[in-house]
Amino acid sequence: MTHDESRVIDAVPTGLFIGGTWRPAAGGRTLTVDDPATGKPLCEVADATPEDGAAALDAAVAAQPAWAATPPRDRGEILRRAYETVMARVDDLALVMTLEMGKPLAESRGEIAYAAEFLRWFGEEAVRIEGSYAVAPAGTSRFLVQKQPVGPCLLITPWNFPMAMGTRKIGPAVAAGCTMVLKPSEFTPLSLHALADILRECGLPDGVLNVVTTSDAGGVMEPLIRDGRARKLSFTGSTPVGKALLAQCAEKVLKTSMELGGNAPFLVFDDADLDKAVEGAMLAKMRNMGEACTAANRFLVQRGVAAEFGERLAERMGALAVGRGTDDGVQVGPLVNAKGRDKVAALVADAVEKGASVRVGGEAVAGPGYFYRPTVLTGVPLAARLSHEEIFGPVAAITVFDTEDEAVAAANDTEFGLVGYLFTENLTRALRVSERLESGMVGLNTGLVSNPAAPFGGVKESGLGREGGRVGIEEFLETKYVAIGFGG
Ligand code: NAP
Repeated sequence: MTHDESRVIDAVPTGLFIGGTWRPAAGGRTLTVDDPATGKPLCEVADATPEDGAAALDAAVAAQPAWAATPPRDRGEILRRAYETVMARVDDLALVMTLEMGKPLAESRGEIAYAAEFLRWFGEEAVRIEGSYAVAPAGTSRFLVQKQPVGPCLLITPWNFPMAMGTRKIGPAVAAGCTMVLKPSEFTPLSLHALADILRECGLPDGVLNVVTTSDAGGVMEPLIRDGRARKLSFTGSTPVGKALLAQCAEKVLKTSMELGGNAPFLVFDDADLDKAVEGAMLAKMRNMGEACTAANRFLVQRGVAAEFGERLAERMGALAVGRGTDDGVQVGPLVNAKGRDKVAALVADAVEKGASVRVGGEAVAGPGYFYRPTVLTGVPLAARLSHEEIFGPVAAITVFDTEDEAVAAANDTEFGLVGYLFTENLTRALRVSERLESGMVGLNTGLVSNPAAPFGGVKESGLGREGGRVGIEEFLETKYVAIGFGG
């Protein structure tokens, strides 16, 4: 590691954050955080046990009443200060993120700005929690409707957006007046450790946010879910884990938000502006090296433009610089670990065996680190595994279609429904196909839908609930109705 790299890693707290202090795990257990670009260790962090998880929940439960009673303006101001502090330290935080996760520095800076924006947006929303007062239809009583914090929450986040997936939950929970136990991914805990410390510095009271990084996610979190004192689970991660957690939540009827896997179709019609479509494809495919739930997984391109689109995309993909995300000019970093890289290689091999052609890339890069070359496949049969499974890597799989009905049927032929992308200059078709796509979000002539001020989320097996936008805070609020008798 360079001097700067060691400096930023050494500055990140490595303990568990419980009741406002950083402390070692019970028994002093630690886990290693690796740099996926080198496969070498970056540091050791405390590895929580079930006993530590219980202590974190106790702290969140104890802090809940006073936090719910804290003025909304004070809650919002803590978030605003945290937004400013994160942005003031963006360079150091970006270096930490690139070291633990692999994405190029420019992308880490982009994620940190996106992550910080959730703190700002929800800091503003904290003072706009509204209720209502109404006359009952019969005129004999009144309805008073108010919003109250759900109560202590459990938050579980993945490794692919190490900070933003945290602030998307922490921001609205703080704004709503909820306390939390957060479990970051064991692969990338450092960004959220750094954020938790910033929130502490910015005045978040002890016990409001507790962080338990662990190599035993199920062992630590399941007892907390089944305990019954936490009233909500907000999870971002894979669909199979989300389903298992939903079953656990059923026992004590926890409120749930589930941001799960995707299999985004990317539709390009003959009447598309191909400049926009290629630009959108690069963004929708290559953001985060393809390791995004919103990543375009299946490119469905109408026959009239398929050859030109494939050629132009292959040219752009082939020109990308692959390397360690800390190095100047690198545009594509490593995948998160050997398992992730090997899965991408297996999906490409399966597609080729079933008849797809490799236009560019199509192979892993020799180590150290877990790199895979940006790849374009054409003539991909819909029977290929990568038409049905999340690729989570820099591979664009192109399939040709003839009619709009055929394209929509193929796009919807998946159990997922997070986002669909659509490129056409025909307004009627744009609106018609947007309505017909079975997804929570549509990118119309754009390859990027994520925005803290917009409602992010999926339908079908891509999840439940929305994060961001005006509705994002609702996930952390309960509605209470008071019936007021008026006599007579
Ligand atoms: P994952 O394996 O499901 O893990 C997600 C989180 O759950 C991690 O913190 C993980 O801990 C934890 N976890 C794993 N097993 C658990 C268990 N039995 N009980 C409690 N927690 C458990 O997913 P991932 O590989 O990290 O992330 C990639 C997936 O997330 C993809 O499917 C992607 O589409 C999805 N994702 C969705 C969105 C969205 O907004 N819809 C956004 C980003 C990612 P460890 O990592 O420590 O094992």
